[in-house]
Amino acid sequence: MANVLLIRYGEIHLKGQNRGFFLRLLKEDIAAALEEFGAEVTLGQGRYYASGIADSCLAAAVDHLTRIFGIWSVSVAKEVDKEFSVICETAAALMQEELAKRGGSCTFKVFARRSDKNFPMTSNEICPELGHVLLERFPGLSVDVKEPEVSLSVEIRERAYVYTNEIMGPGGMPAGSNGKAALLLSGGIDSPVAGYMMMKRGLELECVHFHSFPYTSERARDKVVSLAALLARYCGTVKLHIVHFTDVQLALYERCPADQTTILIRRAMMRIAESIARKNGCKALVTGESVGQVASQTLDSLVVTDNAANMPVFRPCIGMDKYEIMDIARRIGTYETSILPYEDCCTIFTPRHPVTHPKLDRIQKSERAIDDYERLLQEAIEKTETLVVSGSQASG
Ligand code: ATP
Ligand code: MG
Repeated sequence: MANVLLIRYGEIHLKGQNRGFFLRLLKEDIAAALEEFGAEVTLGQGRYYASGIADSCLAAAVDHLTRIFGIWSVSVAKEVDKEFSVICETAAALMQEELAKRGGSCTFKVFARRSDKNFPMTSNEICPELGHVLLERFPGLSVDVKEPEVSLSVEIRERAYVYTNEIMGPGGMPAGSNGKAALLLSGGIDSPVAGYMMMKRGLELECVHFHSFPYTSERARDKVVSLAALLARYCGTVKLHIVHFTDVQLALYERCPADQTTILIRRAMMRIAESIARKNGCKALVTGESVGQVASQTLDSLVVTDNAANMPVFRPCIGMDKYEIMDIARRIGTYETSILPYEDCCTIFTPRHPVTHPKLDRIQKSERAIDDYERLLQEAIEKTETLVVSGSQASG
């Protein structure tokens, strides 16, 4: 009885003529993730199958698949001949394992799906017949059709597949199927979540981080590398551009009205990030901003920030409150790293009373008053360091 992974895709089902493009991309991603296990990946009716994986590696293989965008869910299934007696024996073996885990008794329900209409029994016939066989064999079993502890599924397709598990994937669209964007990645909670959400929609990310050494430490920089690595677990590798931002920040801090510093810094970030984005083929910026979260994220501040960018700015956290963002961060594995102590370049230069309703003309006037401002921005862009960060560098 061979084990095979049944890999279901989600939203790709809704695609029309271009479905083949997305299916090919997803197959490549699945094959790459399972390469180390020597898996053979094939596409069947509405499913991929991954076979040839040693039993001892199945859990690790499933774990890899739960980070591939486009995958709806995965089941470890027994692949057997399309004969009812064989299906019954396979189901009994699986049920025996489930009973052993549960102290000898549990409730169950049989689910059947027949896409091969040549199979002599309909799904409505398979369910009661198989249920009956199992009830006769195991006195500790009882049926619960509403909330069964064990769902035993049988699918009659290219072959017969029997399983008792379904592990959810992340959903979304295959990585990179929708082009590239630049994520402004701080060391906080929100921006890794924002990056994850856009990756899930099929965007490839380049990360841009603003570092103000010596006002921000090497430790703060390492933390951002760790966050980039955690995001890279969902796509293989990401590029991380580290911008040396100290001179720009000092100029704004020393030569502009103190209450404007925060919004001026945000605009400078947008301009630098946009330039790096264009050089690297990105068509949009992504930030972790959420309306009203802090002074720089009031509606008026966001409008003045947006004015500095000439490409779309995606803010997938915009309508979420902090607790919702934190929940996602925990689920995707970035939270524990995000809450490590660090100094962000914004916090260090934060005025005591930042403007919450900035006026664009006043902000622009402050920028014009710095006569070498364009040169400072240009120098920061030129001195940017780029690292390639791999998901295998991620800890935790
Ligand atoms: P996060 O929003 O990631 O939790 P934060 O709350 O410290 O971090 P904010 O001050 O809310 O950051 O900044 C809003 C957004 O601006 C961030 O989500 C991020 O996209 C961007 N940003 C802030 N600081 C930096 C930085 N040092 N480098 C890159 N992007 C930054
Ligand atoms: Mg934030």
